[in-house]
Amino acid sequence: MLESRSDWHDRLSPTVNAIAPSGIRKFFDIAAQMEDVISLGVGEPDFVTPWPIREACIYGLEQGYTSYTANRGLMELRQEIAKMYATRYDVHYDAGTDILVTVGVSEAMDLAMRALLHPGDEVLIPEPCYVSYAACTTLAGGVPVPVPAKLEHEFRITAAELEEHVTPKTKVLLIGYPNNPTGAIMTRKDLEEIADFAEKYDLIVISDAIYGALTYGGEEHACFASLPRMQERTVLLNGFSKAYAMTGWRIGYAMGNPTIIAAMTKIHQYTMLCAPVTAQCGAIEALRHGEKARKKMLAEYDRRRRLIYDGFMKMGLNCFEPKGAFYIFPDITSTGYTSDEFAEELLQAEHVALVPGTAFGACGEGHVRCSYATSIDKIAEALARIENFLRHHRK
Ligand code: PLP
Repeated sequence: MLESRSDWHDRLSPTVNAIAPSGIRKFFDIAAQMEDVISLGVGEPDFVTPWPIREACIYGLEQGYTSYTANRGLMELRQEIAKMYATRYDVHYDAGTDILVTVGVSEAMDLAMRALLHPGDEVLIPEPCYVSYAACTTLAGGVPVPVPAKLEHEFRITAAELEEHVTPKTKVLLIGYPNNPTGAIMTRKDLEEIADFAEKYDLIVISDAIYGALTYGGEEHACFASLPRMQERTVLLNGFSKAYAMTGWRIGYAMGNPTIIAAMTKIHQYTMLCAPVTAQCGAIEALRHGEKARKKMLAEYDRRRRLIYDGFMKMGLNCFEPKGAFYIFPDITSTGYTSDEFAEELLQAEHVALVPGTAFGACGEGHVRCSYATSIDKIAEALARIENFLRHHRK
């Protein structure tokens, strides 16, 4: 009999039962029922995709681009991706063999884990980090091993911290910088010791560079694969969601050694077949002519970043000044609340939605994540409400 919820639950895969739903969404379901909510919650640009990219997609449809593409994606798109990496980072990938176009970085992450992991293989994951890293590891039969990054080190990870968590089963190191939720980056110098560490333990490195195009204050994103000898052991993931405000298009890519890319393509061909052709047409335009629009959005995020950082510091909530992505991760321990309590009480009292730091790993306790990918007016209003909340609720 399959009548009750628990009957169904017992029939489900134990691996799926073992993972929790994303902690980001929980608050939005509550917030959606309320009026006058300001959301600093979702990690999504508030901009509409720049018009030339939308137009290229529409033009593609007019031209009859409505079919499946090659499993690996349109050759033209792969060539543009290869060109961008060669120009910007001096890293060279073969469009024929080293690149797979995916349904966002989300799919690319899943494919990389499934192609690499044997049951029980361990994956080192610096935390706090994006919610899918541990879940994708578990779903692929691996074991996520969190490595806490610290506020006092500006949320960078060091080789010494990683060393403490290495075992004979460690196979993969996953690095996601610029980081969601902290806004931390890793400089080239920081990455050099990580590269030595990866070599010492012969690890595969998955590098999630989805925020690589969003850095501030003169900081440049350092591409892990561009370090000496690292391209051969790196699976590099990137996409269009954040840099070009294309979250709903569902388009990203993976790059690496032809053997790992071929293995990922095998899974992709059976489960996804190909990324949406309309999105691929838009992505080509983004890479060919999207630079001006990307820089304009970046400048606006930077203005918001400075406003929100100053706002929190003035309130006495200690913050690391974010150097990339579009998140800030204030320390709320001085309020006497836990992360969950803070997020919940603030939502109820002032109708401001943000995400408890614990959604990004246990070491996120004591912090909340705020996205500043929302208008400057809304950020100013949210800051005023948070200040009011602190005035009345500091324990
Ligand atoms: N990686 C990170 C660090 C993210 O923050 C996100 C989305 O928020 C993703 C990957 C997923 O990106 P995509 O839209 O390309 O699937």
